[in-house]
Amino acid sequence: MEAIADLKTKYQVKTTDELLTIWKTNDRATYRNEVFNVIKEILADRACDLPPQDSFCCKACGTLLEHDATFCGSCGKAVWDGSEKIEEPPVLGNYIPVESKLKGLGGWLVLVIIGLFGTCLIQAYTILTNIKLFGNGTVSFFSDPSSAIYIPGYSWALKFELIGSILLLLLGAYVIYLLFGTKRKFPQYYVTLLIAGAAFAIMDYIITASLTISHEETKKAFQESLSEESRSIWRSVIGALIWGTYMYKSKRVKATFIED
Ligand SMILES: [Zn+2]
Repeated sequence: MEAIADLKTKYQVKTTDELLTIWKTNDRATYRNEVFNVIKEILADRACDLPPQDSFCCKACGTLLEHDATFCGSCGKAVWDGSEKIEEPPVLGNYIPVESKLKGLGGWLVLVIIGLFGTCLIQAYTILTNIKLFGNGTVSFFSDPSSAIYIPGYSWALKFELIGSILLLLLGAYVIYLLFGTKRKFPQYYVTLLIAGAAFAIMDYIITASLTISHEETKKAFQESLSEESRSIWRSVIGALIWGTYMYKSKRVKATFIED
């Protein structure tokens, strides 16, 4: 007897109409109980309402049976007679199952892909910029208490931003790997990345805003970068809400990310 997973693969290729017909006709002598359970699961995945099933009577004595009965309570005969036909998979060619239209890295997922590469590029840019500030002496200049533009804590704020960006870039690269491998783990890790990105933007803003800057012109420059950071908070929070919801609701996501 096939394992449940094999059964699922076997019935997954059938169209929704075919599955609905088997479900409604409820021929328990031909199809065993596991088949009905699998069909129920597949139809639920396709967000399809289950119609009521026809009643089923014992083929030997005609007694009306419970849906999950394996033996007739009256004559003791097994309900499933093992006659279920071996179904050949549909011949590919002109025939394309309806469900396959909602599978693969297309549709709204294209925006997700573009967004992911965008996020990684922004993080890589932040990393390079911060490394440059450390390398060209800017950080030591701002960190020198005797300097006119001394900002206490500046090098820590920059280090926080640098480490955060590196972690987000690594997570982003892993999420891209899960995406192109159509891995089952993708939606979960993608949502984690969205939330981490939003949390990082908020923390970065708070840290930058809490720096004490006495030099007037430097203060102005920092206030400009703060207003940019507050825009990036809104972008990442709204993005997390929209795309987080999409990951959990989308039929395409459900049908596409199935690899272990
Ligand atoms: Zn019977």
